[in-house]
Order: sequence, then C-alpha cells, then structure tokens
Amino acid sequence: MATPNQACPYEAPAWARDHLMKTPENGRLKLGNFPTPLYKMNPFSGNHDLNFFVKRDDMTGGPELGGNKIRKLEFLLADALAQNCDSVVTIGGEQSNHCRATAAAARMVCLHPHLILRTKREEELSTFGYTGNILMDRMVGSTIYTCTPGEYGRLGSAELVSRVCAHIESDARTKSNKPYPIPVGGSNGLGTWGYIEGVHELLQQWDSSVGSLDHVVFACGSGGTAAGIALGMALAYADSKAMPVVHAMGVCDSPEIFYNDVAIIADKMGFTHPTMDAKEFVRQHLVAHQAKGLGYAVSTQEELDFVAKFACETGMVLDPVYSGKALYHFLKEVVPKDPGEYQGKNVLFWHTGGALGLYDKGDDLLDTLNQISPVKRLDVYGKGGGGTVAI
Ligand SMILES: *Cc1c(COP(=O)(O)O)cnc(C)c1O
Repeated sequence: MATPNQACPYEAPAWARDHLMKTPENGRLKLGNFPTPLYKMNPFSGNHDLNFFVKRDDMTGGPELGGNKIRKLEFLLADALAQNCDSVVTIGGEQSNHCRATAAAARMVCLHPHLILRTKREEELSTFGYTGNILMDRMVGSTIYTCTPGEYGRLGSAELVSRVCAHIESDARTKSNKPYPIPVGGSNGLGTWGYIEGVHELLQQWDSSVGSLDHVVFACGSGGTAAGIALGMALAYADSKAMPVVHAMGVCDSPEIFYNDVAIIADKMGFTHPTMDAKEFVRQHLVAHQAKGLGYAVSTQEELDFVAKFACETGMVLDPVYSGKALYHFLKEVVPKDPGEYQGKNVLFWHTGGALGLYDKGDDLLDTLNQISPVKRLDVYGKGGGGTVAI
C-alpha cells in the first residue's frame, strides 16, 4: 500500500553515482505504476525485419496520470512537498500531456495545480473547452492561464512560469502563497532522474535470452526523457560495445537543439567524467533525429493513418504528437537509410503515452476510422432495408 504524499528515500543506481553528482535529496513519491510492462510484438505486417519490443510507459497510470511525465513528477513533487509548497506552476501546449499529468499528480498530494497553456484560441476562458487533456486538467480543478504562441516565444516558458509564481505569491485571493515552479516537460536535472530510474527498471526486466538490446527509440520533446535514457544507458553499460543505440526522435526542434538541451540537463545533474564533458558525452551516446514533420502537434494524414494501422495490429494506441510521430519517422526515414543496421536486431520502442491527444484529431481521423472500423445498423425486427444487418 502506498501513501502518495510520503516520500521514500531514493538511492541512485550504483552505475550513476560516480557520474551524476547531484542525486535527489528529497526522495521519491510513489505515484505511478511501476515497473511498466515490456512486451515483444510483431506488428508492421511483416514489413520490417526487426524484433520489436515495447516498453509501455503509456501505462504508468490511468488517463489522468499516464505517460512519461509521472516518472519525473515522482521526484519533482517530492521536492515540492519537502519545500512546504502548496501549489505547482507549470507550462505547455494546449493539449500538454505534461500539464495534465502534473495537475493530477499535484492533486494526489494536495497541491493546487496552476497551468499556463499556449493556445491560438481567442475565446473567453469560460468557453475554453474540454477536449482530451483539457478535460482532465479541468476535472482536477486546475487554475488555467492562457498565452499565445507569440507571447510564449517572446518571453520564454521559464519567464512565464516565474511571473505566474510571483502573481500567486502576491495574490492573497489564491490562498496559495508558496508555488513550486516546474519547467516545461518537467525536464530539469531533478525530473530527469525519473528516466535514470526508467533505464534501471528496463535493464532489470530485459531478458537476455532474447539477445542484446540493440536499439532504443522514443519521442523527444523537452529533452528530459532523452537525457535520462541516454545517460542511463551510457552509464549502465559503461561504454561497453554492447550499449544499445539510443534514438531520440525530436518532434518540435532540430537535432542540434536537442544535443544542446540534453547536455545542459546532464550538467544540471552534476555530470562528471574523466575524459569528456557533457556535450561530447551526449553526442557519443545519443542519436537525435528530426521527426517534426509539418510542425509540433501538426499531423499529416500518413502519420495519423500509421497510428490507426498500428493500433489495429497491436491493440496499442500511440499519440499523434509524440509517440506516433516518433515511430512513424523512425520506420519511414531512419530504418531505410541503413537497413542492415536493424535487420534481425532487437529494437525497443519506449511508448511515452499521450493518447488523450487523439481527441483533438478526431475530425482528421474520421475517414480512416470509417475505413478500418465499419459501423452497421442492426435490423432487429426483420424490416429489411439497405445497409442493415439482419440477425
Ligand atoms: C512529453 C512527452 C514526450 C517527450 O518527453 P520529453 O521528456 O519532454 O522529451 C514524449 N511523449 C509523450 C506522449 C509526451 O507527453
């Protein structure tokens, strides 16, 4: 039995201790469902000659908590409680999975969630809506602040979070005067420990009778997941030749930006190495790919059709903004460039969640749904008529 707001002492894996000097001091909460399942599957209609595994971090929690962010939040919210904060402030896109998970997790430990959502909508707040992640944000009573993409771009996410924190501290009516700021995606030095632990968990699960783990593939947005997986794998394998290739599929920025962001996170974690600085180490142990397609949270019909087909073949629903784009672009662009590198190899896709984002794409999916999922009217009374199904 777990008590959500009671932090457990955290001990970093032995392989991390000598290289990541800033270990979490305030422990870890038990909010998610760990270990998440690891499955071997056989999708893609036999089109790809690789052994496919899925690490299901979409199953870290129910719809309100699920996805990769809860791993980070277990550390971040332990810190918020240790600092006697009474609320959290974070920021993301309108359909942010991170904001939704943060809001629900905050409520689990009695913190008030404040979310800054970037949106093009001009409507009144009262008609802000309830689609997908927003429904969950609002179900748990988040206070939502909106800003436009232009404002977000000019001020930057950190500045917006800090201004909202200052507003809360000075506004007696919010009855909340010690907010805990969480950066976009929860991707700072502390949150990233969630994926150091994720690697630890995966390596304990991996059954070496199927051979080595050759490639790890996942979606990359704010870089914390990539930082945790790349540093974790590199340190756990300690530069042995058997280390899997870590593929971060960037859905919003260029590979150059991600190499840089991940190195910054590594530095924040107190990265030390006898011969390399964080920048060089990250470049040696991470391959960042462009998987943005038309742009962040914008889907092509092919990407959406891929998500639908994958769901039909596996019963597993990817999301349009992150996991779906990541796997689509990996199979469409990365594998064909060097097929020999993947042939017969063990490729693990780390499913990072996000399915609530599909609600936002319903209209674009409708034609595909009508093809893959027929809906038929029952002719219960034998009246006949076109298109009905007599039973
Ligand atoms: C946030 C998110 C990611 C990206 O993780 P980062 O740590 O921000 O890079 C991937 N998939 C889903 C579903 C997400 O919500």
